[in-house]
Amino acid sequence: MAAEPILAPFIARSQSLDGILSALRDLVEDPTFPTVRRWREQGGKVVGHFQVYFPEEIAEAAGLLAFKVRGAPVEAMQAEARFGSYLCSILKTSLELALSGAVELDLFVSHPICDAARNLAAIWGRNVPYPCEILYLPQNANSRHAPAFLRDEYGRLQRTIEAVSGHLISDDDLHRSMAVFNENRRLLRRLYDIKRETPWRLAVDEAYVLMALGGLIPRVEHNDLLQAVLPQIEARAARPQDKIRVVFEGGFCEQPPLDLLRSIGQTCYVVDDDLLIGLRWILDDIPLDGDPLLSLATAYLEASSYSPVQHDLRKPKEKMLLERIRGAGASAAILAAAKMCEPGLEDQVGYAQALDETGLPYFVTEFEERMTSYDQLQVQLETFVENILFF
Ligand code: SF4
Repeated sequence: MAAEPILAPFIARSQSLDGILSALRDLVEDPTFPTVRRWREQGGKVVGHFQVYFPEEIAEAAGLLAFKVRGAPVEAMQAEARFGSYLCSILKTSLELALSGAVELDLFVSHPICDAARNLAAIWGRNVPYPCEILYLPQNANSRHAPAFLRDEYGRLQRTIEAVSGHLISDDDLHRSMAVFNENRRLLRRLYDIKRETPWRLAVDEAYVLMALGGLIPRVEHNDLLQAVLPQIEARAARPQDKIRVVFEGGFCEQPPLDLLRSIGQTCYVVDDDLLIGLRWILDDIPLDGDPLLSLATAYLEASSYSPVQHDLRKPKEKMLLERIRGAGASAAILAAAKMCEPGLEDQVGYAQALDETGLPYFVTEFEERMTSYDQLQVQLETFVENILFF
């Protein structure tokens, strides 16, 4: 476990809110992941876990850093030789981080969320000296056996993490860790309340860096940070502007560049989204008594959000999107998808049909991690907004 706060060299509590947000942005965009490096320099071990959802509570219960592997804006020079060119970017840039040595891990875990990702752990494992595992989240979330199956999978993951950390995880360790994550999700819900209720106080890209940092530092530290900055954001002297309220859908796995989010934020208030939804997958506090792994498994299935890579008949995605739009008081949606992302592009069709039926306007777009020009998107989005405002 690291001895000093990981964030200490990167931000000073005396910094202004804008100064803190700017420093966090640099950390989130840095493809060498300085916070992870600092954790390792202090003797800490790291579990890298690929998108979308991972029970980080188990890793942190053993004193490991749970590092959210979400790609990076890097050239995938070495990874290109190991994956087909027709695949999405996040798979290749994530693998590139390992192959180039930009990030050193002690364990890597991925999930077969799609045809493209199902080979990631195997390819990763052939190229690194540490263990690489697949965590099988239930394919059929509606089976009555799903909670017991997932509890056993979490048990298997726990044993792997114990072997890597050299630390046996007790139920008390897990409950303590789950309490930290419950608090973290409460704070993230408060962050999203600000986006919904006073979006002029927090731009979409600012909210993103605050959230994304959670995947780069111990969650206790993330809680401290959020507790310090949320009141400052709530007190920010900012005035509402004449912007439409939109929901951004399509950031569940590969992440759009921050500059793309900033461009959107110049034209619209993004009042809700599915960016890094894995960090907010569990919607309620998880009970802190009983079998902790079963509680984690039950929460994944019974008290969770939605994404194109989880199939649950109780959560038709079109209906869930409409609820997200209504819940946020949005008047339109941005339906985005990462290039070559089959699940994302497939769901875009269903979302568009549902929005057509309800008469809600929507804007369709694609993105990739390393795009650098947003002028065309900006012009198209402005035209879309003008059509809503004036016709
Ligand atoms: S971006 Fe889409 S295709 Fe790529 S790994 Fe994620 S879900 Fe699979």
